Amino acid sequence: MKRFFKYPIIFIFLNILSSNAQVINNQSGYYRFQVGAFEVTALSDGTVPVDAHQLLHPEDPARIDKLLAEAFIESPAETSINAYLIKSGSRLILVDTGAGELFGADHGGALTSSLKAAGYLPEQITDILLTHIHVDHSGGLTVKNKQVFPNATIHVNKKELDFWSGQEKTTATPGATVNKPAFAVLKPYINQEKVRTFSGNVELFPGVSTLEYFGHTPGHTVYVLESGKDKLLFWGDLIHIAAVQLSGPEISNDYDTDKQKAAIQRQKAYADAAKSGYLIAADHISFPGIGRIKAKGNVFEFVAVPYSVLGRNK
Ligand SMILES: [Zn+2]
Repeated sequence: MKRFFKYPIIFIFLNILSSNAQVINNQSGYYRFQVGAFEVTALSDGTVPVDAHQLLHPEDPARIDKLLAEAFIESPAETSINAYLIKSGSRLILVDTGAGELFGADHGGALTSSLKAAGYLPEQITDILLTHIHVDHSGGLTVKNKQVFPNATIHVNKKELDFWSGQEKTTATPGATVNKPAFAVLKPYINQEKVRTFSGNVELFPGVSTLEYFGHTPGHTVYVLESGKDKLLFWGDLIHIAAVQLSGPEISNDYDTDKQKAAIQRQKAYADAAKSGYLIAADHISFPGIGRIKAKGNVFEFVAVPYSVLGRNK
């Protein structure tokens, strides 16, 4: 299958950064809920504006405007950057780390303050599960040249780590340098042997397992949390702009390393979630990004969990 090595993500973001400084409002940065016996906390890293037309390329570009209008969203869409914390006995497991300082001072980088607001310190994090190595997922690992999570072991699919370490060494691939900061922030952890890889679909901890969803990146991984009757899938980048992609999983997406494969994975993930009715937590669905997927004819819908002071998920 043909591979596409394009990394325009940064270009899109930098374009926006230079033209549209964000006013940061102090919204609540965490939301706690229960998945069986596990306490899960959604953590906001902030938002970043994404130009839907620069990111997504349907056959008919007018379709984007129509779908956004139906969802009352204006492009550039103010896109959430979410991470998630799983409390499991003595372990505190973080899924993704936001953008850190890689989107500049005005976008992202709020993960640590959200974590503190939720009652935890970065030093307490024992494990970090990376869905993939992109700036808005691994970015929060190292800020101002300092490891933000000094006591954590980082878990990532072997294919993902191998791919980006290979890219680090090459200068020939056009655009290969663009995602280098996402790997550079992981380097201090690699150097101290704090990074562990896995292959295939495996159980990492009791109730926490991995699912290969390669396409967006070569080792893009979904993490599954299961307890009692509850099941939640951490989707990573299976979705960026829900209002458009749930109606068109096949729409070409500039962030994808392998566009064809990524489109197939989106279709598969949305259909499976709709059929099974489990919870999903998505890094780029509006914070807290937790809910379920419903099939409606041949398209899909996201239904957010109802707000609950008790942490209920239905
Ligand atoms: Zn992302």
